Amino acid sequence: MGTKSQSLTEEFDAIAELSATCVHCGFCLAACPTYSVTSMENDSPRGRIWLLAQAARTKEVNDSLRLHIDRCIGCEACVPACPSGVRYDDLIDRARRVVNVGRSKRELLGRSVVVASFSRAQRFGSLVPSAQALARGVVKSSLLRPQLPRLPRVQALLEQAATIEPQRSMGTFTSLVPNERARVVMLTGCIASVFFEEVNAATVKVLNAEGISVIVPKEQGCCGALASHAGQHRPAQRAARALIAALDLPGIDAVVTNSAGCGAMMKDYGELLEHEIGSDAFSGRVVDVMEFLDRFKSVIRYRPMPREILYHEPCHLAFAQGVRSAGPSVLGRIPGLKLRLTEGPNCCGAGGLYSATQPELAHQVGEAKRDAILEAGIDLLVSGNPGCAIQLNSLLGDRVNILHPIVLLSRAIES
Ligand code: SF4
Ligand code: SF4
Repeated sequence: MGTKSQSLTEEFDAIAELSATCVHCGFCLAACPTYSVTSMENDSPRGRIWLLAQAARTKEVNDSLRLHIDRCIGCEACVPACPSGVRYDDLIDRARRVVNVGRSKRELLGRSVVVASFSRAQRFGSLVPSAQALARGVVKSSLLRPQLPRLPRVQALLEQAATIEPQRSMGTFTSLVPNERARVVMLTGCIASVFFEEVNAATVKVLNAEGISVIVPKEQGCCGALASHAGQHRPAQRAARALIAALDLPGIDAVVTNSAGCGAMMKDYGELLEHEIGSDAFSGRVVDVMEFLDRFKSVIRYRPMPREILYHEPCHLAFAQGVRSAGPSVLGRIPGLKLRLTEGPNCCGAGGLYSATQPELAHQVGEAKRDAILEAGIDLLVSGNPGCAIQLNSLLGDRVNILHPIVLLSRAIES
């Protein structure tokens, strides 16, 4: 992954090299959620790679390339599907930076405002209830509601904001247990610390119950994923350095996150920071909470929960991190609990800010997921990514209860 100091020519050279590994076999097409919705070659991994190869050859970014790169969710489902080992994850990071060249100032500013607002959610946390009340008012207003379809991005943001409940921030927190089996530092997350504090509290409860001490430094920022998805390389690097400084504490066995999107970004810090001192070591200590719990023989007594639930694999956990069996394995400790994998397309269309920047396509991808979930006829679903939870919640409403797997575990602990 390059730095902003790298010239556009260097980015194009790297793109040319990476795209040359594609043999156009098309095995990745079936894995791609945007291709499954539009059936357009340019909305497939192979089509995007071809467009990138053309751009690298001509050293030009045209509107078609920008459109189809913007329409890529970045789910990385195409990476394990590719028998030739094409590094689409690296390609899409570079492509997102390249297509910002020539983007209108208005659009760049709009993207920066959205990224800055969400990544500073912790600081603005106290304002969230008022903003949410306003969003609910607009969504319900007989005067304003008919206008919203003309502003699909605004409508998507307002509808999502209206469905989720802000929670009180945990702040600085240290919970040491006697005879600890390990000591970890926990990421609270910029959006998660405002909207998913129950998830953070449950993470501490389960880790403590397993004999694992938890430290939560108060001064934590965004992991940089939102900036990275918007092709803002320098801001993403700044966020990564700040978070390493906040979380890389002495005597820590791991940096635990309960957000699949943040985990994927933090495990990539070595690449993002071009392997500057400490970045690879930090990335090596980052671990998803279910992945971490799976390393220990459990000492928790769980109450039986004789029922079936749906298990949604977040793309950023399954494909970007390659963590697939840990969630089902740890949830399998609850006696009587039966897990069923969600069927149909894997991606729900959330993809960081994708549902705000590409609301129509995000909704189409989400609809396919929603239909597959409803067809299963099960009213409880677990997902280990806040972005997926928000997206699925807005798609499913109160027809299906959506929980983070760590919340289900914490509720099942025998008191
Ligand atoms: S990315 Fe991989 S799977 Fe897709 S067309 Fe190219 S070589 Fe084939
Ligand atoms: S990252 Fe996801 S949406 Fe983008 S090309 Fe790959 S499979 Fe398709």
